[in-house]
Amino acid sequence: MDKHIDTLCVQAGYTPKNGEPRILPIAQSTTYKYDSSVAMGQLFDLEAEGYFYTRLQNPTNDYVAAKIAALEGGTAAMLTSSGQAANFYAIFNIASAGDHIISSSAIYGGTFNLLNVTMRKMGFEITFVDPDCTEEELEAAFQDNTKCVFGESISNPSLNVFDFEKFANAAHRHGVPLIVDNTFPTPVNCRPFELGVDIVTHSTTKYMDGHATSVGGAIVDSGKFDWDAHADKFPGLTQPDDSYHGITYTEKFGDKAYITKATAQVMRDLGSIPSPHNAFLLNLGLETLSLRMERHCANAQKVAEYLAANEKISYVSYPGLPGDKYYERAKKYMPKGTCGVISFGVKGGRDAATKFMDSLKLAAIVTHVADVRTCVLHPASTTHRQLTDQQLEECGVFPDLIRLSVGIEHAEDIIADIQQALGTL
Ligand SMILES: *Cc1c(COP(=O)(O)O)cnc(C)c1O
Repeated sequence: MDKHIDTLCVQAGYTPKNGEPRILPIAQSTTYKYDSSVAMGQLFDLEAEGYFYTRLQNPTNDYVAAKIAALEGGTAAMLTSSGQAANFYAIFNIASAGDHIISSSAIYGGTFNLLNVTMRKMGFEITFVDPDCTEEELEAAFQDNTKCVFGESISNPSLNVFDFEKFANAAHRHGVPLIVDNTFPTPVNCRPFELGVDIVTHSTTKYMDGHATSVGGAIVDSGKFDWDAHADKFPGLTQPDDSYHGITYTEKFGDKAYITKATAQVMRDLGSIPSPHNAFLLNLGLETLSLRMERHCANAQKVAEYLAANEKISYVSYPGLPGDKYYERAKKYMPKGTCGVISFGVKGGRDAATKFMDSLKLAAIVTHVADVRTCVLHPASTTHRQLTDQQLEECGVFPDLIRLSVGIEHAEDIIADIQQALGTL
């Protein structure tokens, strides 16, 4: 029987054999020893499974990737050194210069820049769509060279809840996979693979690590997308790879083809592997993920309700708040809760927002989001600084928007801090 996610958080991935360390060991080694060159040669040809160089694979990293694959209910996963690398690799694994990508416009600022600036420079065509567009508008975005559709399950920082059904149907009608960044709700609160998503990405830097110790990312494959049914669109997976003596990934690796190619080709050549020590820290975070998400959501609910009832607040966005634009959709797709992030505006605009933030004592001003400590950020002057006002609006980031990441302290202490800071306005 499948275990509950709480159990998988604690136990999945590393299972020690008789006499082995109970806790995930850190394989702090770049290299692996073999008795013969023939044995090692087989590894280089992908003819045998095993470790030969940590840029490609490392046992500690693989155990943590296996845990994340189990949490998402996927067939395989790969860790990367950052969420940025995860999103880039997830797309680059199946698309190249001259190909077209459709992305929701309500996404993390870093991902928006990756697509809109860097990937355009590399020769990709990108079309951004409003995630709440009509089916017809979404349909009109597809081209013959479209290779995937991208979105965020809950967008950072605008807190748009993704319309999974609409995007999955459109992507599959056009024979391309749907890739969703599931960083904010985590697999504890959102199950993208049960909602039609084919590939999930994460910035593990956020709730998964949870303690703000390590930047990292992950890519997980559902194993469900039928690459061979659309072989002409995905030659990298369905045609022989010359850099491995002509193996064909889908033929040789079946429902692990996508992650095997990402590891053997993209990671081999671009090399954004996390350090095994960071993977160890990520695993410690994952052990308490379900417990922490419960408290993050319970606290955020109380804080959002407090803010919504306060006359100094101009608006509050939190998908768990009745009346929120995404309340019904969140109930449908994330019945256990959403995340601990709330965005809101203070009456008096940008200046009042700054004064409020500077007056907080418990909540710190940091770039980070989604760890155990309550923190705040003003996206328009920090993470989204490079964007024009029109781009900001397209991302759902208003100039007076404050992003509050509610931690796991006692809710009464968090609210008391907000109350005293509002008192200075
Ligand atoms: C932070 C974040 C990223 C980027 O991840 P890094 O680990 O900072 O590289 C991508 N997507 C989302 C939703 C994020 O919040």
